[in-house]
Amino acid sequence: MKNKILLTLSIIVFALTFSCKKQNNIESATENRIDKKSNVPDSLQYLVRFLSATRGVKESDITFSDTSFVIQNDVFIYKADVKLALEIESGKKALNQNHLTLAELFSSRKMLGRPDLIQQRQYIDIQNQNPWIVDNQFITNLKVKINATSPEWINAAQEAVRNFNINSLTTISKIQIKVVTEGQNITISETGTTNPNSSVVADAQIPRYAFMPPGNFVVVPGPQIRIYNNHGSLPLAQKVVAITHELAHTIGIAHTDGTDSDEIQIAGTAAFDAASYMNGSLSLNSFEGFTNNDLIALRTMYPKSVGTWEVMSSVSAESFSAGGSESIFYFVSFGEGLNGYLVWYNSYYNTSTSYNYFGTKIANSTDGLFYINADHEIFRGYTNGSTPVQLPGNALEIAQSNAGVFILSTTPATSGGNLIKRWNGTNWIDETFIGAVKFGMGKDYNMAIIDNTGNFKIRRNGNTYFDTPSQNIVFKELAIGHLNNVDNIFLLGGAADADGNYQLFRWTGYDFYDMGYRGYKVGVDGIGHPWVAKKNGAIYRNLSL
Ligand SMILES: [Zn+2]
Repeated sequence: MKNKILLTLSIIVFALTFSCKKQNNIESATENRIDKKSNVPDSLQYLVRFLSATRGVKESDITFSDTSFVIQNDVFIYKADVKLALEIESGKKALNQNHLTLAELFSSRKMLGRPDLIQQRQYIDIQNQNPWIVDNQFITNLKVKINATSPEWINAAQEAVRNFNINSLTTISKIQIKVVTEGQNITISETGTTNPNSSVVADAQIPRYAFMPPGNFVVVPGPQIRIYNNHGSLPLAQKVVAITHELAHTIGIAHTDGTDSDEIQIAGTAAFDAASYMNGSLSLNSFEGFTNNDLIALRTMYPKSVGTWEVMSSVSAESFSAGGSESIFYFVSFGEGLNGYLVWYNSYYNTSTSYNYFGTKIANSTDGLFYINADHEIFRGYTNGSTPVQLPGNALEIAQSNAGVFILSTTPATSGGNLIKRWNGTNWIDETFIGAVKFGMGKDYNMAIIDNTGNFKIRRNGNTYFDTPSQNIVFKELAIGHLNNVDNIFLLGGAADADGNYQLFRWTGYDFYDMGYRGYKVGVDGIGHPWVAKKNGAIYRNLSL
């Protein structure tokens, strides 16, 4: 175990909120409309009781405005939809097979125990018919129309949809979202008004029932996201966080930090997650990815089966390097620490070719195949197989990005390991003054390292400094594959199993998602898929991750 190191990312709490902390009570908000003593089924009070009993929301968190109930000031549901839900869930409509009485419906809620400390991710499950899990036909083909008119909000909405298309999510969840101009399930628009609570940036309609011919009610996404007009000065990156957050509400994801409500915490998620985009307040300056907890929650609600790992070869790989195109991948074959063949692998045709180059690590750059050998000498080879040229210096590791070729030098840093240097065409010049024992290059000068205590550190977005996320895993290996402006970073770490293999993780942007696989060496190909070599030498890849 290692000491936790404080997260120094740009997770700085910002004062704006999606929702209001000071909630009006339903009674005071609607005192002229509610007969508190009434038990008439269509009275507002009755519907509030239904919402509270079946949706894990405190009555005091529900307000009523015109035609809709507003929960915690940033999600809403129309009165007609609540009445429909009540009819369906009490058995008056087709979906509920149990024909529950309302008393049974309410008591089933009570039987769940109403936990005192609630860190939920998901709204409540009634009799295994979760009213928040959007039907398969919609969740696998969510169509979003962007009706916003301000250029920044349009950008933010587009970016938010893209956030749901990043590999970390799409490889484990069936959620598919795209932007359309017609036939939408969800519309994002600007209201042109200010919310009665002026701190509310945007709100979202939560999932509801809709009738689907030939004769069934299914849960569909909340059709609307509304943007209020008094937050135009928010930085674009925070607008993106806001819309990403609201999109999740439309498919039934609740707040991560909703301690004043009753929702259920999804199994495997942590009780507290400062970096979650689903905290009730707009506390992130930008969206860097779904956290481990977020991914577990989305995967639990909308799971997708992950394809198998296919074995590629019976030889071991000392090093992997993503190639210059999507289909080309390089690795070095033969034993650890020994010079082996440099192998060119074409993923598209599943063919491999050995060069007459011998080394232990390889980096494929537009300037050629840079590699190092077991004596730490550095060479540049060429894809046409011509005679390699030895370069000055010595290196322990080598990697490339569109910014060039980089080495982990044999020069010690003050602490943490050795210095990383960059090839300037004639020599190696200092790139970092931080010590590393492993490193990988992402887009441009984005870089991730592991230091000599097994700590992961990341440099990104043109910064010169490294962020050190909180972690309690000792890391051994890392690899980065850059695709469409996204760095896909995989790591090996934790305790070795009996075969000498480590756990495989994906860097989420904030923390580490356990991929449920093990390996000894890791690489990422040109389209972001992880490859691993086992300690016993076999190479595997998974094209579904
Ligand atoms: Zn919210």
